[in-house]
Amino acid sequence: MGENIQFFRNYIDGEWTEAESGKTQKIINPATEDVIAEVPKCDVSDARKAIDAARNAFDNGRWPLMTPGERSAVLLNLASLVEAQMDELARLESMNQGKTIKQARDGDFPFSVDNIRFYAGAARTLAGLPAMEYMSTGTSYVRREPVGVIAQITPWNYPWMMAIWKAGPALATGNTVVIKPASVTPLTTIRLAELCEKAGFPKGVVNVITGPGEIIGNELTSNPKVDMVSITGDTATGRKIMERSSSTLKKLHLELGGKAPFIVFDDADLEAAVKGAAAAGYVNGGQDCTQASRFYVQEGIYDSFVKKLVEESAKVRIGDPLSRSTDLGPLVSSAQREKVESYVLYGREEGAKLEFGGKRPERFRKGFYFEPTVFSGVEQDMKIAREEIFGPVLPVLRFSGVDEVIASSNDTIYGLHSSVWTTNVRTAMKLASRLRFGAVQINDHLPITSEMPHGGYKQSGFGKDMSVYSLEEYTQIKHVYFDMTGDRRKGWHYLTYGDPA
Ligand code: NAD
Repeated sequence: MGENIQFFRNYIDGEWTEAESGKTQKIINPATEDVIAEVPKCDVSDARKAIDAARNAFDNGRWPLMTPGERSAVLLNLASLVEAQMDELARLESMNQGKTIKQARDGDFPFSVDNIRFYAGAARTLAGLPAMEYMSTGTSYVRREPVGVIAQITPWNYPWMMAIWKAGPALATGNTVVIKPASVTPLTTIRLAELCEKAGFPKGVVNVITGPGEIIGNELTSNPKVDMVSITGDTATGRKIMERSSSTLKKLHLELGGKAPFIVFDDADLEAAVKGAAAAGYVNGGQDCTQASRFYVQEGIYDSFVKKLVEESAKVRIGDPLSRSTDLGPLVSSAQREKVESYVLYGREEGAKLEFGGKRPERFRKGFYFEPTVFSGVEQDMKIAREEIFGPVLPVLRFSGVDEVIASSNDTIYGLHSSVWTTNVRTAMKLASRLRFGAVQINDHLPITSEMPHGGYKQSGFGKDMSVYSLEEYTQIKHVYFDMTGDRRKGWHYLTYGDPA
């Protein structure tokens, strides 16, 4: 395999660099377990260089001073470059992450092009308050300004798309960024840096460094030259980052874990719900923060739902992620598969009934594959109903009444995504208002669009990706006040000393 290994470098201050230590890290294809690439294994000193470059580009460079229209033109260049190379980029993402080529080529990449175009256009419409005499003595207006240097830390499940969701709005609004992809899936993010260079971002505006989260992540989240940290990752990582960034009081944008309820009422279209359950449960191998991962099914249709879900699960085609007829590729890593296996064991030990799957498929000698898995008889207090598994494991719970299912669905530390399947409008409206999640979908589970916000309630984090709300995350507002009186001693000065004039 050695001759097929690609060597990638990091992108700091417009230069392609190795780690200062010369160390590299091997990148594995989870479908074959072969080493496909090596990337720099950066250290604190490399992280500091990238931060300094972004700081200098923000404080002394032209990017934050350019008009929204000028910045938009660079982002639109980037969108076109990505569009022209989607086949190759999707293939690289699939080989690095294990996701199916269908998901990467028809989902993540075209969507990211639309995301970039949205940010490019929407950032031109951002406004502050119009100028006005809110005090009779002067004129006030609000400026909306970039936050500064943003550390952007991404997870391994959607490496490319999360980099775009972070860098897109941050750059469109005039910030400079240091992007750190997850250690196991850095390849397309490094390609993003190449495309940014071609698109015309000035040097230092976009920096990409690779290395262990605990080391360079810690530097990115505590270095005083970083103004804001934006991370998509596990809730436990979000907590660490909050602690770590508290000494310099950084602005935070945290997109964290999820445990999305998928609630099916007796009056739902059962076929639609079952197909929706399989699609939203096995999406991206179940490694999706909005994955349907707790199925609450009303008692009248419970047994038929489980039976049909098993039938649907049997149709899922496991195989080489680069084949267009594969539905489920390998999990991202051996460690992730072991984590999923441990949850299957918990499910069995805690008394849930394994209806389907639950093991490694026998026909693959290599690759971190795991079968689609269905559990019935799951109770609210079982680990598989409460904790994020992040794999193709679908736990099905039974409920009887509306208030009961609202309470059970909300009984979680997470609050990212949810769905309700019913033909009763009143039930749908009631749940839409009572479910404490950043998204509630009725008779579907997953669809997202550039115009709508994505982000959590509770310990799924705070701050929104996509939509104009994401642009607000990466800006801050400033009150500018112009004295219009010209008075040397102003009317209010007596409050501090002397008497009224
Ligand atoms: P993770 O938390 O292990 O890693 C995320 C990133 O944080 C990686 O780049 C990692 O290197 C870095 N990191 C780790 N420790 C760090 C530290 N101490 N300081 C700074 N950075 C550190 O998450 P993951 O396993 O890569 O991704 C899966 C998780 O991401 C799941 O919990 C999933 O729900 C979540 N996720 C959330 C969303 C969302 O929009 N809310 C989207 C995708 C994934």
